[in-house]
Amino acid sequence: MREKQKLSLEIQPLIELYQELDSKIEKFKRETGLDCIRGCGECCAIESRKVEVSMAELIPLSLHLWETGEAEGYLKKMEQMDEGGPCVFYKKGPRVKEEGGCSIYPWRPLVCRLFGFSAVKNKYGQPVAVLCSVLKKRNPEVVREIDLKIQRGLEIPINPYYAKRVTLLYPTYGKERLPINEAVKKAIERVGFYLELLKKEEKGLKTFESYDRAA
Ligand code: SF4
Repeated sequence: MREKQKLSLEIQPLIELYQELDSKIEKFKRETGLDCIRGCGECCAIESRKVEVSMAELIPLSLHLWETGEAEGYLKKMEQMDEGGPCVFYKKGPRVKEEGGCSIYPWRPLVCRLFGFSAVKNKYGQPVAVLCSVLKKRNPEVVREIDLKIQRGLEIPINPYYAKRVTLLYPTYGKERLPINEAVKKAIERVGFYLELLKKEEKGLKTFESYDRAA
């Protein structure tokens, strides 16, 4: 148990970053009236190869899965999955949930938090909203209104800014972007490996990064 507490302390800055981002997105939703269509799940139902994330984004989720005893089950499930299938956490079912089928919603990676409610900057440094295609199709007027609001100063999370902050927290795991199922597999395995190392308390090493340098 001590090793899990130790790792929890290490991932605290990332948890705080996610909380900060979530509250900015909530504010953006309130101010624009924009929100996901209840139970939609379109963004999760696509081929997992098209959703790229870094392992760093998945560290809190991986620790959570080891804590709940689900990690090995997901590793096995991924071995049997078709490469062209959706994200391993996507559950399509008759029960329509607000989260749209994500079975690990509170632990989802950065890219899934930003999707539909973030912006990139154009060559003039102005934020340009990157919104969900389903919402755009349904209501192109709202999208135009949001663009105008952004031009007038409405705050919207800037996607590369958050991705960079995650990379700075965990440089070894934040740079490479992989298809989500591949990244999940690697992140679960790596966190499991650290938990084992922490159990042994070998070499007096203290952080993710120092363990990685020694591995
Ligand atoms: S982690 Fe959740 S939100 Fe992200 S793609 Fe998978 S099912 Fe969708």
